[in-house]
Amino acid sequence: MKHVFDDQNLVDSIKKSKILLVGGGGIGCEVIKNLLLTGFSHVSVIDLDTIDVSNLNRQFLFNKSHVGESKAKVAANVAHKNFAHGEHIDVKAIHNSIQSQEYDVSFFKSFSIVINALDNISARSHVNRMCLAANVPLIESGSEGYFGQVFTIKKHVSACYECTGQRQDQRTFASCTIRNTPSLPIHCIVWAKHLFAQLFGEDDPDNDVSPDLSDAEVASQVNELMKEISNDKKPETTREWAQKNNYDPIVLFNKLFCIDIQYLLKMVNLWEKRRKPTPLHFDDLAKEHFTCQPSSSTSSEVCNGKTYSKLKDQKIWTIRECYEVFSESLKELKERFNKEGNLIWDKDDETALNFVAAVSNLRSHCFGIEMKSKFDVKSMAGNIIPAISSTNSIIGGLITLQAIKLLQNLKHETNDEKLPNNSFEDNAIKNNCKQIFLRKVSLNRPNLISSYELFDPNPNCLVCSGRVPEIDITLSLNEVLMIDFVEQVLFKKLNFVCPDICIDGTAKVIWSKDEADMETEEEREISKKKLMSDFKSLKNDVRLRVNDLLQDYSVLITLKDEKFDLNENEGLFYKIIINEGEIKTESKNKESTNEIKDEAEEAFEKTKMDSSKEDELLRTDQQCLRTNELNDISKIGEIAYEENSQEIICIDDEDEEDSEDIMVMAEYAGETMVTEVENGGDVETDNSCDIIEVREKRKVEENEGDFLLKKRRLD
Ligand SMILES: [Zn+2]
Repeated sequence: MKHVFDDQNLVDSIKKSKILLVGGGGIGCEVIKNLLLTGFSHVSVIDLDTIDVSNLNRQFLFNKSHVGESKAKVAANVAHKNFAHGEHIDVKAIHNSIQSQEYDVSFFKSFSIVINALDNISARSHVNRMCLAANVPLIESGSEGYFGQVFTIKKHVSACYECTGQRQDQRTFASCTIRNTPSLPIHCIVWAKHLFAQLFGEDDPDNDVSPDLSDAEVASQVNELMKEISNDKKPETTREWAQKNNYDPIVLFNKLFCIDIQYLLKMVNLWEKRRKPTPLHFDDLAKEHFTCQPSSSTSSEVCNGKTYSKLKDQKIWTIRECYEVFSESLKELKERFNKEGNLIWDKDDETALNFVAAVSNLRSHCFGIEMKSKFDVKSMAGNIIPAISSTNSIIGGLITLQAIKLLQNLKHETNDEKLPNNSFEDNAIKNNCKQIFLRKVSLNRPNLISSYELFDPNPNCLVCSGRVPEIDITLSLNEVLMIDFVEQVLFKKLNFVCPDICIDGTAKVIWSKDEADMETEEEREISKKKLMSDFKSLKNDVRLRVNDLLQDYSVLITLKDEKFDLNENEGLFYKIIINEGEIKTESKNKESTNEIKDEAEEAFEKTKMDSSKEDELLRTDQQCLRTNELNDISKIGEIAYEENSQEIICIDDEDEEDSEDIMVMAEYAGETMVTEVENGGDVETDNSCDIIEVREKRKVEENEGDFLLKKRRLD
């Protein structure tokens, strides 16, 4: 190790420092291996999850025999066994949530560096706040498909995780879009999942699938439309209705895709500017064109002169096939429901997936929306962001490099609040640690990895600016339940974990997480039903102080009591206005994927202004790649991917005589395909394939040499 780093102080601090790794998944597995191979001797890994079969393709510390076990424990054991060399190497596993109250500020203070390898915003925000409160540097990371990002957060030195404003976890859709006017495949998929829940799952009125009369666009017609329903005896739930009809597939089919669609057509306002849906009756299914493949779905495709047959799950079903799958899965789910009770939708449950794929495609057909293959439905319905092992492996390498750079610059081994003599350290961190992006290669951006100076803290940040932020929240006190305010606004929107709500200026606690946790089952049932207006002190213009003792974080909220139409507010029952005070900067609000791209592009635009700086940045890139080679990411820089397709471009432009053709081996569902690529050429494999090897052709033939890229997994 000394030979590699040539700096005894650094070697010592690597050995001495204590690292907390939050997350033992795709990136976590890479990081723990890298840390141990680098010589770190005190690593704690915390993860709440257990190992699932679907993790095994990329979380390489795990194998089949570990399924169901704690990620943290297995990762710690396997990594220790394989990568720890030398004595006194201490790898701790914690099988728990990092958001648990046990892990307070003093717990965080006991570490030199915290590393986030998480997959959700709520936990990331929490660790961000804990590290700010404990004044411990945090390395934040993320990957999404071929994109990735790593950056260092140090209190008052660089931007924190929440400096860029509110982040959104998942896309949600207004109920009237789902129930009345879908226009995208995802709308029909969400509707199909709701139908599954209505028929076989836990009863949830939010998941209603019938035409929505509360849609503001049909307000003028409501009375007329209601009349029709009241003639039809008592209203019944979708499930009651289905049970009454013994889940008869033809009856259900006609109701869902014909009668309900005809009813929607009566809401004439909806179709003034939209394409009208077409009802689909069971008797229509025999018609010839419903038994043919849609033109977009051919059963084979040509790739590099060779023809590959498309796999079963990638074909788009005919309408007739959709009905057959619908009918079969309905029958099987009914039997399971009668035996097991409520079912939970799971993308890996073949029958449940078949049901959603068939139903969503039938609905798409009615609304003239593009139909999707079962494979596409699976990834859309499961909210699956593709996770790619090589992206995680590069990100894992970059995190480790950032950790080393941090240690080189953390001269003062103290966690005290910011002292004047720490400004040297702050500058050193600012100058040496980087904001790093992994993104697609294009002509004007030839490098896979770009690094930039850390962003400055946002003076208006709700979390790290040092002042208590003031927020106005508008909602209707007479209609909103306290539990919804706490769960949707405080937990989900503002990322609190353990809040107390007081009237500002008094010590009177109105609601407290601790107290709520102590309630008996009976008390909880009562609390659940309390409206905000049931709390006497909650009135228009009241100022609340919400304080999270665990996160050491407070927000002042002024409540504005006002009724408004939820449909005009994207279905949300509250509106938030953040009072930015006197300091004003450009506010940013981006969704996660775009954010990664946009930030990189923005930063890139800035550097283009100054070409000497760009050269410097490019040099840094190359250094990153070279150092990465030490980290078991061999020669990965020679292969580039295009976004959203598995296009591999061989960008090795060495002299003609050295050049080698490349072989790409890809696998899908056990079938292997091999494609050759000329040096400098490119290949596009099927989107759903898993690329398993990229290798020089001559070396494959002679059965020797390195893989340029190969999935690694330990036995
Ligand atoms: Zn911040």
